[in-house]
Amino acid sequence: MIIGSHVSFNKNNQLLGSVKECISYGANTFMFYTGAPQNTRRIPIESKYTEEAFSLMKENNIDPVNVIVHAPYIVNLANENNFTFSISFLKDEIKRVEELGFDKVVLHPGSHVGIGSSKAIENIVYCLNQVLVDTPVKILLETMAGKGTEVGVNFNEIKEIIDGVSNKQNIGVCLDTCHIHDAGYDVSDFDSVLAEFDKIIGLDKLLCIHINDSKNPIGAHKDRHENIGYGHIGFDNLINIIYNDKIKDVPKILETPYVKDDVDSYPPYKFEIEMIKNKKFDDNLYRNVIDFYK
Ligand code: FE
Ligand code: FE
Ligand code: ZN
Repeated sequence: MIIGSHVSFNKNNQLLGSVKECISYGANTFMFYTGAPQNTRRIPIESKYTEEAFSLMKENNIDPVNVIVHAPYIVNLANENNFTFSISFLKDEIKRVEELGFDKVVLHPGSHVGIGSSKAIENIVYCLNQVLVDTPVKILLETMAGKGTEVGVNFNEIKEIIDGVSNKQNIGVCLDTCHIHDAGYDVSDFDSVLAEFDKIIGLDKLLCIHINDSKNPIGAHKDRHENIGYGHIGFDNLINIIYNDKIKDVPKILETPYVKDDVDSYPPYKFEIEMIKNKKFDDNLYRNVIDFYK
């Protein structure tokens, strides 16, 4: 099983900090933003941290092939508004990912903000074809919940984008369990969901899975993640997804919410990964997380 979570990447020790955080959760992969997700300010990469991070990864059997970078979610390729900026930022981001030694970037397809999905898909394709040249990096389009005017809310829309991209070896998909549930897919019958994905897109394009429970019922289009087993998808359904044989080599990344008390908030991942490894639901997760980190 290749499992990990979102981890931080900050100026103090950059990738080295991310790898240490990953190891502290008992994970064997991780995902990070190269800066704050809600802005595009980025610091220069310091190679000494990258080198130390890679030797630590090697010692701990963390394969760089399974490591995922998430593009900032404010990049919107769907609407012409910020086209020039979005394209140049994404090109730089891809260079940063190459420099760090990774090759997978998850990207939200974007929001059409009134122009409609089909025009939006044209725009996304146009941008991706500017960005995906002369690089080993793959962009993984994330399946979206359908909040607001999001594009990529079903496998057909994702497929349309992929069809327009010239360098097919540079494009893949990231399936988010909370998002597809919120978009209306019944993940309690995950074999059927995968069969549909395979028929429309092809399973070979599935390169990352975000494992999240959802705060809302199926089809709610809300996109609010919940801790594993505490939401409307439920523990058994998530376990079935994680252990599905057809996707056993696909990296699985938790993006569940931090546990809060009156003072602070704490990462749940060490305990959620434990639940997943033991296939046993922990109905005392919040307490255990707080007691451990406080
Ligand atoms: Fe995402
Ligand atoms: Fe996600
Ligand atoms: Zn989400």
